[in-house]
Amino acid sequence: MTLSASERARYQRHLSLAEIGAAGQEKLKSARVLIVGAGGLGSPAALYLAAAGCGTLGLVDFDRVEVSNLQRQVLFDTGALGQPKAEAGRARLAALNPEIRVVAHALELRAANVRAVLADYDLAIDGSDRLSTRYLVNDACVLLGRPLISAAIHRFEGQLMTYVPGRGPCYRCLFPQAADGVVANCAEAGVLGVLPGVLGTLQATEAIKLITGVGTPLAGRLLTYDALELRFQEFRVERRRDCAVCGDAPTITAPCDPQAPPRAPQDGVRRLTPRALHALLVPPGGAAPPLVDVRERWEYDTGHLRNAVNIPLGELPQRIAEIPRVSAPVFICRSGGRSMHACTLALAAGVASPANLEGGMLAWAADVDPAMPVA
Ligand SMILES: [Zn+2]
Repeated sequence: MTLSASERARYQRHLSLAEIGAAGQEKLKSARVLIVGAGGLGSPAALYLAAAGCGTLGLVDFDRVEVSNLQRQVLFDTGALGQPKAEAGRARLAALNPEIRVVAHALELRAANVRAVLADYDLAIDGSDRLSTRYLVNDACVLLGRPLISAAIHRFEGQLMTYVPGRGPCYRCLFPQAADGVVANCAEAGVLGVLPGVLGTLQATEAIKLITGVGTPLAGRLLTYDALELRFQEFRVERRRDCAVCGDAPTITAPCDPQAPPRAPQDGVRRLTPRALHALLVPPGGAAPPLVDVRERWEYDTGHLRNAVNIPLGELPQRIAEIPRVSAPVFICRSGGRSMHACTLALAAGVASPANLEGGMLAWAADVDPAMPVA
């Protein structure tokens, strides 16, 4: 696609960059980018990609503009209140750059439509505030071989990763699975308005790099940003060979809608009496299972089993990766309720054969060790 005279004038500062030039700008003109979520992250990503001359932009959002959005969703102004976000965003981007094509997808992405929507695009930017959508988009991108630039924000912190097919881990490799709703969204937790501006702009940067082929994408690395300390950190992450979607033997072969998080005790959770657990721990040199005490820190400090690690239940979804997946861990709490919940979370995250200490530390003290203090 060659550039018109008006385009050459508009993108002159790109054309002046040797790394981009006319060839890179023509790649941008040919590029088709899907932006999932026209919110805090999608707003700056869409504005910068439109300004940069990304030829086709798709905006997926089924919400309407609310007044509380305007603190961070800079794609909208007060006059757009009440309008569908996809359509209001399309109008704003068209006004910014009439040279490009913007497609409004005023729908909710589901297993039934995600492949059809994504099929018309070369890469996806995920700024959704829903965990279930994030997994759905990730899985669809892996299955269709599309790069995905995924960001998330929470209060004063954000994180970013880029999935490039065949070059590193996907979102599910980093966060194998969490029950939907465990992570509070912006509505509940609050968010610094400028925070998604930083992360969404980084997403647009990554998209432009992937499209033009300049620089090094954030593949195989997780970037975190702490606005309060103004600190970026980077963590190397590997593709998981046992990843459910991009691993060597994937179990997810088509996008699927999320299931309700497990609540009731489930098949697959083993139940151990205190005496049965005691028998597992006693043999010297035996392969004792890892013990995970999910009580609060102060309860744990009052008295706990030797070698038990403390991961309070509320932290478990974020720290589930600390538990080896093939280790058949035993979860422990005061009376057996929280630990059963932990077992179901662990099962959902793919931890093999978790066990629950029936009756918890109270039962342990009663049946095995009367000297054990239990808060
Ligand atoms: Zn993966």
